[in-house]
Formats: sequence, structure tokens, C-alpha cells
Amino acid sequence: MCHKLPRGASFWQFLFSVDRDLAHANRQQACSCGGCLHAANYPRKPRGCSERLPPEYGCRFSFCCDRDGCRKRMTPPSVRFLGRKLYLAAVVVLVSAMRQGPTPRRVRELSALFGADRRTIARWQVFWREQFPQSPFWKVARGSLSLMADVVLLPLTLLDVFLRGDDPCRDWGRLLSFLSPITTPGGLASEDSG
Ligand SMILES: [Zn+2]
Repeated sequence: MCHKLPRGASFWQFLFSVDRDLAHANRQQACSCGGCLHAANYPRKPRGCSERLPPEYGCRFSFCCDRDGCRKRMTPPSVRFLGRKLYLAAVVVLVSAMRQGPTPRRVRELSALFGADRRTIARWQVFWREQFPQSPFWKVARGSLSLMADVVLLPLTLLDVFLRGDDPCRDWGRLLSFLSPITTPGGLASEDSG
């Protein structure tokens, strides 16, 4: 099991540019009430990355309807942030996958590498084992992957499917884009923090 994150600032910059495009596309749509969407980003302090992240990682794109009486929120999908989880989406996927497979990495080792404690990692594993496979997203998406993904081995199966090319940066971008619909409020039936 040799999956890892691409090194260097360009990877994080690349993910940011994907998020910016997703946000831009989202903003083109008006609110359902007809109001305009204004920027109302959420502050973030992402965890799990030992490298210095670009300053843009201090917020997650979000919009708010400008009409009084509506003020509805619209938060676009993201390849950087997984719902309300504190850790970067790529780290949640990677650490969970590293616990799986023929030679699972030990929690102590992963904690040292990514700073996530035992309870947090255990919560991610529950997410992949119980919440994610039950989500409407996965029930549709698994068909498009044309594989009988072994639920017991999520998300490792996803890494095996997506991280196959010779450009890890682009492959990770594709994997995180694939997962991005579950990063919006209501994208999963339920989500927790951490
Ligand atoms: Zn509105």
C-alpha cells in the first residue's frame, strides 16, 4: 500500500483552484427566491497537513442570499473540506485507507504523521463503514465506477480506482471531485465533526 499525497504547494494550490471553479459555477445560480448570492465564507483552520497551506485555506467558500427574509445559505461542493470535518478531505481519505489493506498502518504511526488522535481516526472509520455506504450518493455513484466496491474496504477501494495514473496531483483531484457532492450540507444524510 503505497498511496500518499502529492508533495508541495502546487497540489494544494491546484485543489484550491478546483474549489474556486466549483464556487464560481454555484454562484451563477440565483437563490430559489430570485435573490443574488453574496460571499459569506466560513472560516477554517484545516488540520492534518504538515506543509504550509496557502492562505486561501483559511476559508471555505459559501454564499448567502441577499434578500431580507430569505438569507438562505448555499455552500458549494469542495475538494478541500469534507463537510464540517476539521481535517482536510484528502487526509481523511488517506488516513482511513492507510488503516486498511494487507498491512494496516498503526494508529500511533498515523497520529504522528497527521496529528489525528485515536478517537478521530476511529470516527472516520465509522463514517466510511456505516454512513458513507448508506448514502444516496454512494448508491448511485458506485454504479458509475463499474466496480463491486468492497464496502469493508472503503475508502481504500476508491484510492485503488482513482490513483492509477502517472500524475498523482490530477488523480487526487479526480478522486476528491468525485467525493465533492458529499461535502455540502445535506450531501450525506448525516455528518459529524472531526
Ligand atoms: Zn433567497
